[in-house]
Amino acid sequence: LEESFRRNEQLAKRIVDIIHLRFSEVRRVLGMDRLKIMDFCGTHEWTIVHFGLRSLMPEGLELVAGPGCPVCVTPSRYIEEAIRLALDGVRVYTYGDTFKLRTINDVKGVYSLEEARTIGGDVKMVTGLLDAIRDARRHGRDSVFLGIGFETVAPGYAQAVLSGHVPGNLKLMSLVKLTPPAMFHALDVLREKPPEPPVMGVIAPGHVSTITGAKAWEPVAENYSIPVVVSGFEPIDVLASIAEVLRQLVAREAGVRIEYTRAVSWDGDLKAQAMIHKAFYAVDDAWRGIGFLPLSGLRLRDSFSDIDAFKQFGVQELKPEDWRKDTPPGCRCAEVTLGKAKPTDCPMFLKKCTPEKPYGPCMVSLEGTCAVWARFGGGG
Ligand code: SF4
Repeated sequence: LEESFRRNEQLAKRIVDIIHLRFSEVRRVLGMDRLKIMDFCGTHEWTIVHFGLRSLMPEGLELVAGPGCPVCVTPSRYIEEAIRLALDGVRVYTYGDTFKLRTINDVKGVYSLEEARTIGGDVKMVTGLLDAIRDARRHGRDSVFLGIGFETVAPGYAQAVLSGHVPGNLKLMSLVKLTPPAMFHALDVLREKPPEPPVMGVIAPGHVSTITGAKAWEPVAENYSIPVVVSGFEPIDVLASIAEVLRQLVAREAGVRIEYTRAVSWDGDLKAQAMIHKAFYAVDDAWRGIGFLPLSGLRLRDSFSDIDAFKQFGVQELKPEDWRKDTPPGCRCAEVTLGKAKPTDCPMFLKKCTPEKPYGPCMVSLEGTCAVWARFGGGG
């Protein structure tokens, strides 16, 4: 799409008309009155909510958010470890949206990095690893960078590690998560106990796919027999992706298509993939509220153990046998993340849990479904 078309009202109206037409066709061809399309990525959910796209959908077509918020799924335990380090005098670098993330267990009476800073913990917000490298070089004290994110952040971390740019006093706590295993898990859970209506298509994350390539989603289309469309983030991108999911359903196709062609290719960024592979290896990793998912996280390879916070600061890895549900009591974030509940199904939504004072992890980051719905109103 040309730049000028991305927010073109007339074009948006035409695509919405096509969505309505195709949905009537889906009803006729598949005999289905209601179905869901899952948007995996928190930024897609933001677009859907911010531009009121749900209100433009035909009755019976529901858009449901998936597990696409890395801050929401970072286990409480690792934030507790970061608090411990900050209170022990290690400078902890974090993205702004992790600052307010609450843990389930306290460390010396505090439950977040924000609270740790109020009692003297050394916590500094940064925009990324390069920012942390610059600061750590300047002060020379022991420091750790919380490397939270999906595949999109991994090439930058890998580049810094491989080029030897990380100073000796700075360690990386790699908490990078890989998204395809989470999508498989969400779809497995929904298939075990099929929701009413069923998920019949997926809008796959655009940013992640610039790195992984659209090929990463082929197993979704193959194993679950549903269409997948890799989408951009403008409202017209998302509308066009929904229209494409419906087109495939009418044609009884289940393939991976790229709507976000201006950034995504089938194979993705092979150079970035090679760098990631050189610096990291995949581990079975814990997802907050969800549990361990196979090969869903990245840790530094042994050859980089000198900058690995897990090894250098004795940060304890979670083990499957130790893992406990780590969302706060009553928080329904785990269900929200898997598309089984909406934020408004949680009794604490906009009462005990608000963007100013988040109680559960999905209310913290701007990519968290509860935070997006709280800020812009998501239901309509
Ligand atoms: Fe959890 Fe808050 Fe969302 Fe409820 S509103 S599910 S407590 S994050």
